[in-house]
Amino acid sequence: MNTLCPLCRSSNTHPTHTARHVGGTLGALGGATSGAASALSAAKAGATLGAFAGPAGSVLGGLAGALFGGLLGGAAGSVAGARVGDVVDKNVFNRLQCDDCGHVFTAR
Ligand SMILES: [Zn+2]
Repeated sequence: MNTLCPLCRSSNTHPTHTARHVGGTLGALGGATSGAASALSAAKAGATLGAFAGPAGSVLGGLAGALFGGLLGGAAGSVAGARVGDVVDKNVFNRLQCDDCGHVFTAR
């Protein structure tokens, strides 16, 4: 793979992460959505557990469960999406940007 900038011949280049960013964002959205679904059951579980500590415990437990489920889902989705995006970047786009002149080109 030639990573030299075709314009200025600089070897000071880095891969662009177009698909990784897109994948990470989409994954986070998807993960948060499925996380929200599991957050509901997590909230119920938290509320049930918290109920032993009284009404306040039930509310707090539900909140903690919902937060946990949503956050975990979003984070897991984001990581998975970024992984997929990485593969797409490498195998489909294979784009590099020159750090010296800013030129974006396709590595061959
Ligand atoms: Zn250049």
